[in-house]
Amino acid sequence: MTQHDQLTFQNPVDRYAQISPPKQDQPEPGFDEEIVPKADHGEESYRGTGRLEGRKALITGADSGIGAAVAIAFAREGADVALNYLPVEEEDAQHIIEVIRETGRKVIALPGDVRDQEFCSQLVEDAARELGGLDALVNNAGKQEISEDLTELSDEQMRSTYETNVYAMFRITKAALKHLPAGSTIVNTSSIQAYNPNPMLIDYASTKSAMNNFSKGMGQQLAPKGIRVNAVAPGPIWTPIQPSDGQPKEKLPHFGQNTPLGRAGQPAEVAPAFVFLTSPESSYVVGETLHVNGGTPTP
Ligand code: NAD
Ligand code: MG
Repeated sequence: MTQHDQLTFQNPVDRYAQISPPKQDQPEPGFDEEIVPKADHGEESYRGTGRLEGRKALITGADSGIGAAVAIAFAREGADVALNYLPVEEEDAQHIIEVIRETGRKVIALPGDVRDQEFCSQLVEDAARELGGLDALVNNAGKQEISEDLTELSDEQMRSTYETNVYAMFRITKAALKHLPAGSTIVNTSSIQAYNPNPMLIDYASTKSAMNNFSKGMGQQLAPKGIRVNAVAPGPIWTPIQPSDGQPKEKLPHFGQNTPLGRAGQPAEVAPAFVFLTSPESSYVVGETLHVNGGTPTP
């Protein structure tokens, strides 16, 4: 694992080693605690530069993977953070909370299931009360489960994928609006799947397209109020979503190797895109999708 921080001049090809994850399986949601090899969330590698000083952020799916890296980066940049995740993910969450406590920033744990409509409003109210306001939202919680054939895609899975990835984003964003002052930002985690759908991820890929589209529509709706909405579209990033039925087992050993950079990305490499879109420095960037995918061309 690299000890260089993200601001050190380095070759992106080997900033991180090419990984070849062994076949492994976990029930959903997967745990960072159990993935092989371990991922980098920036614990040792993310250096803050004061870009989110005094901000108050709610991040969903923040116990592991990309959300955990975003939480660490936001705190190192000076933000207080409220972390949402599923109650069964407490152990992963505690690891990230400990790392954030070392920054001296406030960190609030708000576990719960974002598929629950009432919980979505409760989550926003709790975050705003505990943080003393809210000016940054990251809709990142996501469900990704392969299904080889549409005839085998259960209604239950389709509904769960849409409730987690799309409905929760609508509901949490809607609930957040009354708290967000001008200058606030919303960043949604879309995916390269929004453009290049894997035929085994029909439900998931279509939710990511919806998230991308929502970001561009809401970007226009909220711009006059001084609230910026953008999206980040990661490519193959090594997180627990992949070995918990996010990929066929036999594909894991090659995960991310077909990108121009020739390797999977690490969560810590995605976090700076969220920092940029949340920081005031991106003041003229609205409705944009920032691709963090190792070089695969996208429209
Ligand atoms: P991850 O498993 O670490 O994170 C997903 C998180 O979503 C879980 O930790 C969990 O806390 C949360 N979640 C799932 N269902 C939930 C529910 N019902 N209620 C509350 N929280 C729930 O994996 P990740 O890859 O870091 O995923 C984060 C986001 O990134 C997802 O939206 C995913 O679609 C997106 N993404 C990931 C990749 C990738 O290659 N890993 C690529 C593109 C997009
Ligand atoms: Mg998790």
